[in-house]
Amino acid sequence: MGKTNYSVGDKYGRLTIREIFKRPTGNKGRVIKYVKCKCDCGGESITTITHLRDGRTQSCGCYLMERLIKHKMCSTPEYYTWANMKDRCLNNKNKRWNRYGGRGITVCGRWLNFKNFYEDMGEKPAGKTLDRINNNDGYYKNNCKWSTPSEQQNNLISNVYIEFNGVKKTVSEWSDSLKIKRETINARLNRGWDVDEILRRGLGKRRKKYNFMDTNKTKSEWAKILGITTNTINLRKKRGLPINKILTSERWAK
Ligand SMILES: [Zn+2]
Repeated sequence: MGKTNYSVGDKYGRLTIREIFKRPTGNKGRVIKYVKCKCDCGGESITTITHLRDGRTQSCGCYLMERLIKHKMCSTPEYYTWANMKDRCLNNKNKRWNRYGGRGITVCGRWLNFKNFYEDMGEKPAGKTLDRINNNDGYYKNNCKWSTPSEQQNNLISNVYIEFNGVKKTVSEWSDSLKIKRETINARLNRGWDVDEILRRGLGKRRKKYNFMDTNKTKSEWAKILGITTNTINLRKKRGLPINKILTSERWAK
């Protein structure tokens, strides 16, 4: 047996010796000395001084886990996402710096560590990218989600202010107050419509009701009830048909 020039309190890697004890091996009454160690991470490990000295045991197992995670994770979409996020927020040489770090978009302290980011966000669903809910706020758990590019675009646009009738509101706010779907406004914006046209169209549609047989319904509501398309209604109107021939499921009215 080697010298016992080691003692409680010695540190090897992440492990600090807490206890030294002997166990018989069952082989001709031989006895092996073990060391019980406390790991930096709070874990525990029982090993031998030989393993500690030659570096075979450096931690309770956490070090190996970290390396495994790191190496396996380096090639994952989550890792790329994380690394890119950090770069555009923290590296002023990044091509997109102006839109991120340069305008105060930050990464929370917790997410400087990839493990934490992965823990909070989980796996990246196929086809989705990391998206901030409030585009003017930074990267942290409650402000982030995995979104499809169109969801992300919608989100981006929804936080944009548009002026209508002298009032400035975000798309989301206009959507609420005019009862036009956010997606509808966004789609119209994407198609390059005028703001006026976008929001007025919503107003007009909302007010236009067709009264027939004591019932007030919008064009699309009637279409649904009658099992015809709104386009059919439009065509019949154009032909100047009376209301009872416009709002009917009868084919002859075509
Ligand atoms: Zn450990």
